[in-house]
Amino acid sequence: MELAERLLDNLFPSRCILCNQTVSSPDVGQSIELCVDCFESQPFNTICCTRCALPLAEGTSKGSICGRCITKPPAFDYAYSVFRYEDDVIGLVHQLKFSEKITYARSIGEIFLSAVNSEEIFNRDLPDCLLPVPLHSSRLRKRGFNQSIEIARVLSKKKKIPIEYNAVIRQRKTPPQTGLDAKQRSKNIKNAFTLVNDIQCGHVLIIDDVVTTGSTVNELAKLLKGNGVECVGVLSIARAPIKG
Ligand SMILES: [Zn+2]
Ligand SMILES: [Zn+2]
Repeated sequence: MELAERLLDNLFPSRCILCNQTVSSPDVGQSIELCVDCFESQPFNTICCTRCALPLAEGTSKGSICGRCITKPPAFDYAYSVFRYEDDVIGLVHQLKFSEKITYARSIGEIFLSAVNSEEIFNRDLPDCLLPVPLHSSRLRKRGFNQSIEIARVLSKKKKIPIEYNAVIRQRKTPPQTGLDAKQRSKNIKNAFTLVNDIQCGHVLIIDDVVTTGSTVNELAKLLKGNGVECVGVLSIARAPIKG
């Protein structure tokens, strides 16, 4: 570590965003840190549907598929979600999206993805490219960055997988999905995406921040499958449990 960085680190030690304890950070300048204790107490999505990553009840055996995937399988082939969308994860994801600081988005991406290595996701063949869920241009202008791209960047660097930035756009401005049920969400997002450039990858991994009912990533997967992509996976930071 450079002397200047070491001095800065001593002057302004990083603190855990949740419990405020000092964290000795390997990455000076990272604007958000989680201490080991807080990180390990997060709701990891270990018991979930292997097809859509829907959190399943404690005690469900590994490799299970949820009822919805049995009756109506999604367009994507597999999905992983690092966390359940509960407790502290909700607040962290909110910071990721609405802090309006790209450095926050990046460091939250780093924190979340530090969990990915231990996940089983890369036991299968590596995808040929990563496809961050596109934002509509007006929303991108307003927010200044696309949080899914920032997450994809961290993963791309770590696993040396290229990011596909230009193949798909969100051409239809859809009202926010918040507050809609599964049926309304799927109607709301229908035909929201368009393929504007050929996609050369046979195996695409869609990257999203939070998957709620799965209708957004399913719509994107449908488009990819309809245009010759053989295998589509989904990786998200957090997956919401079914309400009620
Ligand atoms: Zn902490
Ligand atoms: Zn499922």
